[in-house]
Amino acid sequence: MTTFTLPDLPYGKESLSPVLSKETLDYHHDKHHMAYVTNLNNLIKGTEFENADLETIIRQGKGGLFNNAAQVWNHTFYFEQFGIQSPVSGRLADAIRAKWGSFEAFQKEFNAAGAGLFGSGWVWLSCDNKGELSISQEPNAGNPLTHDLHPLLTFDVWEHAYYIDYRNARPAYIEALWKIVDWRVMERRYEYQSKKW
Ligand code: MN
Repeated sequence: MTTFTLPDLPYGKESLSPVLSKETLDYHHDKHHMAYVTNLNNLIKGTEFENADLETIIRQGKGGLFNNAAQVWNHTFYFEQFGIQSPVSGRLADAIRAKWGSFEAFQKEFNAAGAGLFGSGWVWLSCDNKGELSISQEPNAGNPLTHDLHPLLTFDVWEHAYYIDYRNARPAYIEALWKIVDWRVMERRYEYQSKKW
C-alpha cells in the first residue's frame, strides 16, 4: 500500500523572508500541506487507489480523494519552485516572449489571473503537448493535469498562503512572490516536457 509523505522544503525556513516568513512556512508547509498528506493516506485505505501514484488519483479520483491528492501535488510543486531568485532564460524565456511579447506582459497577465480568481485556488503557467504556453486559473484544488496540460509554475492564492504576511492584500503577495522564484526550476520542468514534442 502506498504511503505518501510530506517532502522537506528545499531551503531553510528563514531564507524566503520577508517575502514568505518562517511563520507562514510553519503553517503552510508543516500544518496545511501535512494535513493533505495525512488525509490522503487515510482516504485511500480500502479503495482502488490504495497502491496508486499521486497523478493517477488526481486524474481518476473524485471528491475528497481528488481534493487531497491534488493539494499534496500542488503544494509540493509550489514549494519546490522558490529559493534564490534567478532570471528566466533559455528556451522557456524564448517561449514566454514569443507568446506574450515580453516577460513583463506575461507577469502582468499572470498577476491579474491570480488576483482575479474568485475564492480559493491556484494560478498556473502550463504547456500543452506541443509546448504551447498558457495561463489558467483553477478553483480550490484544481490542477491543469486534468486538462492534459503540463504545469510549469503555480502560485497558491488560498488565503492561508498569504494571510499571515499580507493579510487581505492578495495582489501584494503575488507581486512579492516573483522575488523568490527560482526560474531554473521552471526551465528544468519545461526541458523535461520538451522531450515529448
Ligand atoms: Mn496552500
